[in-house]
Amino acid sequence: MQDNNTYDVVIIGSGLGGLMSAVMLAKEGMKVCVLERDKQIGGCLQTFSVRKKVFDSCVHYIGGLGEGHTLYTLFSYAGIMDKLLLKAYDPNAFDTIAFGDDETLYPHAQGLDNFKEQLLQYFPEEKVALNNYIKAITTVGDHFPLYRLRAGDANEKAVVSNWGLTQKLYEFTQNKRLQNVLAGNNLLYAGIANKTPFYLHALVTESYIHSSHKVMPGSSQISKFLWQQLQDYGGEVFRNTEVTKLAEENGSISYAETKDGQRFYGKQFIANTHPVVLLDMVDSSLFRPAYRNRVKGLEQTISTFMLNLVLEPGKVPMRHHNIYWHGSDDAWAATEYTPEDWPANYAAFFTEDVHKPGYAESISILSYMHYDEVKQWESTVNYTVAPHERGVSYDEFKQQRAEKLLSKLYQGIPELKGNITAQKIATPLTYRDYTGTPKGSLYGILKDVHKPNETSIATRTKIPNLYMTGQNVNLHGVLGVSITAVATCAELVGMEYLLNKIKKAP
Ligand SMILES: Cc1cc2nc3c(=O)[nH]c(=O)nc-3n(C[C@H](O)[C@H](O)[C@H](O)COP(=O)(O)OP(=O)(O)OC[C@H]3O[C@@H](n4cnc5c(N)ncnc54)[C@H](O)[C@@H]3O)c2cc1C
Repeated sequence: MQDNNTYDVVIIGSGLGGLMSAVMLAKEGMKVCVLERDKQIGGCLQTFSVRKKVFDSCVHYIGGLGEGHTLYTLFSYAGIMDKLLLKAYDPNAFDTIAFGDDETLYPHAQGLDNFKEQLLQYFPEEKVALNNYIKAITTVGDHFPLYRLRAGDANEKAVVSNWGLTQKLYEFTQNKRLQNVLAGNNLLYAGIANKTPFYLHALVTESYIHSSHKVMPGSSQISKFLWQQLQDYGGEVFRNTEVTKLAEENGSISYAETKDGQRFYGKQFIANTHPVVLLDMVDSSLFRPAYRNRVKGLEQTISTFMLNLVLEPGKVPMRHHNIYWHGSDDAWAATEYTPEDWPANYAAFFTEDVHKPGYAESISILSYMHYDEVKQWESTVNYTVAPHERGVSYDEFKQQRAEKLLSKLYQGIPELKGNITAQKIATPLTYRDYTGTPKGSLYGILKDVHKPNETSIATRTKIPNLYMTGQNVNLHGVLGVSITAVATCAELVGMEYLLNKIKKAP
């Protein structure tokens, strides 16, 4: 064992969960290292550029970065809040929801009262329903103690965890259009009718209603600043360092071994990978076959196709809101699409041209895609560390789908036609290879309100010095993952102690 390869904490994966945990523990004086398989850190926070325009690979906008929100406090504690350059969305519509050929764009507005007021213009009879809806999402937030930076009682969550989302929306209102408008940005949590818990919707939605921002020029600023903070506290990140094994000796993990045989020894280990990836690394009888089978058998959230477009300058008016379009009147239908009726939905995210304010310089469009659609190319691997072509048939598939998606987009955003100068496409395989998430799943394990315990992963594992963090534990998204990092670090330093320090952050 070499001293310079021995750490208090070894973290596998430099996604937001890994980096936030690393910074919080390094701030406690621990010697921390983060091992990342890719060249670029950040996992889903990665960015790329096309014709010098920066694109987000995943995180196009973030809820809860406004002053007073929990995420704002957490990022302040991590030392990055004042460094981020944020662009606020339209207060009266951060998201808009559209259905089929109907040109109406129903707004989701910032501010709880404003959210209600803006929707009342379209649903004047639904004041009671909207009041009850707002009350319910706030109530859910209050029952998730960490969302309010309280240690709380684990049983608090239980009171609201068994509420189903579709069922709850039906209780608020009989107006089908309003039900579908409220669920209209369900791509944010890959919602499934009669399966998705209401709390998932409530916690995500509440944060965006509080405040919606885009990080400029891209989400990799978050990972960059977290890395700088980590370095300031003496921590290290090793890139191009894929962990293939966590060696268990006498009931605890002693070292992480990488693909090229390096060993990183540690007292504590935190996995920021998907749990299935973690299980494959640990050859220990402490993870019983029944547990392995259960975790490996869990349903994953759907994946996505992403089309990134560079635009002719000064041609496409900027929208300071996102557009969530559904092919039918049913906001839940898109996950059930068939290849023939694809695309059944899309979400469009606009980036403003700083040289031509009022116009968009680029657009990213996401549309659900099942992994099975790209399964025939799954033996190919292509990411920065291992760049390989996937072949002509794959390129043709991507191009055909891009054209189908564009023809839908032209109906909603007609100015796009003739004004696209470059494009770049990602598929479920891209997401699989760049984030290490099995099947390129959007948000990892699918939460099922009918199986709350089976679809939950704990921060603790059966191995006492091995913990988990990241989107598969508790909740996904920048807010969810940051809060989970607190839960993970609290296992090492104590919850009350950590929360007190976080709340005292300047
Ligand atoms: C398409 C898409 C759009 C999204 N949009 C938004 C949005 O607009 N707003 C929002 O808040 N959230 C959004 N999310 C969700 C959010 O990005 C994620 O929930 C969050 O960033 C996940 O962070 P994480 O730490 O769990 O893991 P990840 O970001 O998945 O990071 C895991 C890291 O572990 C590394 N790793 C894996 N295996 C190994 C190994 N063996 N050795 C070493 N390293 C390894 C990976 O390379 C990766 O860097 C989006 C997600 C997707 C996929």
